Amino acid sequence: SLQSNSKLPFDIPDYLDPNYKRENATFISLARNEDLWELVDAIRSVEDRFNSKYKYDWVFLNDQPFNEEFKTVMTSLISGNVKYGVIPKKHWSLPPWIDEKKAAQTRERMKNIIYGDSVSYRHMCRFESGFFFQHELMQDYKYYWRVEPSTKLHCDVNFDVFKFMREENKDYAFTISIHEFEITIETLWETTKEFIQQNPQYLDKNNFMDFISNDGGETYNLCHFWTNFEVANMDLWRSEAYQKYFEYLDQAGGFFYERWGDAPVHSIAAALFIPKERVHYFEEIGYYHGPYNNCPIDDEIRIKNKCMCKPKDDFTWQDYSCTRRYYDVLGLQKPLGWEQHTG
Ligand code: GDP
Ligand code: MN
Repeated sequence: SLQSNSKLPFDIPDYLDPNYKRENATFISLARNEDLWELVDAIRSVEDRFNSKYKYDWVFLNDQPFNEEFKTVMTSLISGNVKYGVIPKKHWSLPPWIDEKKAAQTRERMKNIIYGDSVSYRHMCRFESGFFFQHELMQDYKYYWRVEPSTKLHCDVNFDVFKFMREENKDYAFTISIHEFEITIETLWETTKEFIQQNPQYLDKNNFMDFISNDGGETYNLCHFWTNFEVANMDLWRSEAYQKYFEYLDQAGGFFYERWGDAPVHSIAAALFIPKERVHYFEEIGYYHGPYNNCPIDDEIRIKNKCMCKPKDDFTWQDYSCTRRYYDVLGLQKPLGWEQHTG
C-alpha cells in the first residue's frame, strides 16, 4: 500500500519520526489579495488533511504585491515556511508579437463562454502554462502541489505525496480529468502536431497519446487533467521538450487569440513527452473544485481515510470525465462497482 514506505515499525507513520526527511517540494498557490478568504478554506483543508503532518513550504504568487492581511492570515495557517512573490511583468502581459486588436476581437467573439472576455484569465493560463516554475521562489524546489481557492480535500492523506512521486517515478499526478470546451482551443491540436512534426525527437516512445486522442493522434479528444489540483515534477516543465513546446504555442498566439488553458497544455505535454506510467491518478485523496467532486467509491478507502464526501457525488466514472479512459489505456483495474457511478 501507499503507506508502506516507512522505515519505522509498520504501525508508526513516517511523519512521526523526528528525523523525517522531507522531499524537495512545496505547495504553490497563485492568487489575488481578494482571493484570501476562499483560499483560506482550501488551505485549512490541506493543512488538516495532510500538511500539518509533513509541514511542507508554501509559495504564493501574485501579479500584484500581497497585502499585509493576506500575508498575516496565510502565515498563521500554514505549518511550513511561507514565501510571497510577485510575478515579473513580462510573464503577465501581452508579448510584443501579439496583435492587440485581434486579441480584443477574440474576446468579443468569445464573450458568451466562461472567461471568454477576460484578459486576466488569459494571463493566468499563460503564466500557469509557461512561467510559474521559472519564478525565483520556485527555483529551490523540484516537486509542487498546486492549491486553488474554494477547493477542498475530502480525505486524510496519511502518506507523503511527494515521497510517493519520487519513489514511484511519477512526474505528474491528478485527481479529476475532464473534457475541454472545444471553442477555447480550436487550433491547439493543429499547432501541437506542427510542433511534433518539426521536433519528433521529443515524442516519448512510450507516450500516453491514446489518453488524449481516439485516433492515434489525428485529432484531440479534449481530455485533460484538471490542473486546479496538480502534483508534479518541475523537471517536466523545465525540460527542453516542454520549453520549446511552450515557446512554440506562445508564438502561435492561442493564449490570446483563443483561450488556451494551462490544463490542456500541461496535459498534452504530460501525455506526449514522458512515459505514460509516470502519470498518476490519486484515487484515495478525494477532492472538490466546483462543480465536480472526486469521492472514492471504494468504501474501504473512504472509511480508512476518514473521507467526508458522498460517493454518489463522484465525477470520476461519469461520461464527461476522462478517468475511465485513463484506466483503460493503462490497462488498470477499475474499482468494484464503477458501472453504478456513470450517470
Ligand atoms: P477557474 O478555476 O478556471 O474558474 O479559475 P480561477 O478563478 O480559480 O483561477 C485559477 C487560479 O488563478 C486561482 O488560483 C486564482 O486565484 C488565480 N487567478 C486567477 N486570475 C488571477 C489574477 O488575475 N491574478 C492573480 N494573481 N491570480 C489569479
Ligand atoms: Mn479555480
